[in-house]
Amino acid sequence: MKQEIKAYSSVLELIGNTPLIRLNNITKPLKGEFLAKVEAFNPGHSTKDRIALYIIEEAERKGILKPGDTIIETTSGNTGFSIAMVSVIKGYECILAVSSKSSKDKIDMLKSMGAKVYVCPANVSADDSRSYYQVAKRLHEEIKGSVYINQYFNELNIDAHFKTTGPEIWEQTGGQITHLIACSGTGGTISGAARFLKTKNADIKIIGIDAYGSVLQKYHETREFDAEEIYPYRIEGLGKNLIPTATDFDVIDKFVKVTDESSAHTARELARSEGLFVGYTSGAAMQGVKQLAEDGEFDENSKVVIIFPDHGSRYMSKVFSDDWMNEQGFFDSQNIEAKETIEY
Ligand code: PMP
Repeated sequence: MKQEIKAYSSVLELIGNTPLIRLNNITKPLKGEFLAKVEAFNPGHSTKDRIALYIIEEAERKGILKPGDTIIETTSGNTGFSIAMVSVIKGYECILAVSSKSSKDKIDMLKSMGAKVYVCPANVSADDSRSYYQVAKRLHEEIKGSVYINQYFNELNIDAHFKTTGPEIWEQTGGQITHLIACSGTGGTISGAARFLKTKNADIKIIGIDAYGSVLQKYHETREFDAEEIYPYRIEGLGKNLIPTATDFDVIDKFVKVTDESSAHTARELARSEGLFVGYTSGAAMQGVKQLAEDGEFDENSKVVIIFPDHGSRYMSKVFSDDWMNEQGFFDSQNIEAKETIEY
């Protein structure tokens, strides 16, 4: 008798259900149990696979998308890659309008996943007709049957995590979770997971990680947009210079800000101490946890889930490059970290 073939029907079946992995070393000095939700295990290596699949399948369910139709988004980052991946499997055209600031590597990654990439000038305002926002909007209006994902202002971004990330965390912790720590960019991950978890236990503390140079923490505290909070920073995917409607500020208890430098060192430390090769914002989330621990946030009974959004391979020319770390001046205070290459 022939044996059954044990294969997934496509990469899409592997989206979600990411593992929860206990942190054993980096957390040694801290009180409590620390569990990382490692989103790099998604096939597109980030949490954004979840929203790409969910938003596209919702559009299919509503009859908006037919085979051959076009999906549009404005991102060179993880979301673009995930949308391109889902589009390949489902037979859609994928158009990504990106800023000319995006690295060639990122643009090549999107193209290798079959996306059509429009590179738009970075040095124009968002309402300029050449900006990537306006180009995406125009293409959406012009191309019949196209869907614009618009992740910062799409409520389905929250729903994707309400339906997947939140229930997975509840199930994986056997309902014992006391704290959720997640970076906030669009806010979809933290808001969706938090909305679900709070339906199960309203006492779970939800803490967002924000960047210095971003408006989110101040907005959470005052409900006012303060442009003076905004200045350039290096971490990508975390924090924002506008208020996304995909963030539900009411389900977040507080925000913690982290620096570019400490987050970079902590991302490197995660690889060396836990064998977890995760991205810059994972370092930021872990850095936030260290700061919270210092402020007495956790005790022996704390069960802390930390979301690690993506994989370290996306940051080879940044956080995981000693040259880049040196150029930023990040080794100045602790140059013990630059490991020599041994040449024969
Ligand atoms: N980390 C990385 C690397 C990201 O790309 C994003 C998405 N912008 C986030 C964290 C934040 O996730 P969210 O948009 O769901 O808030």
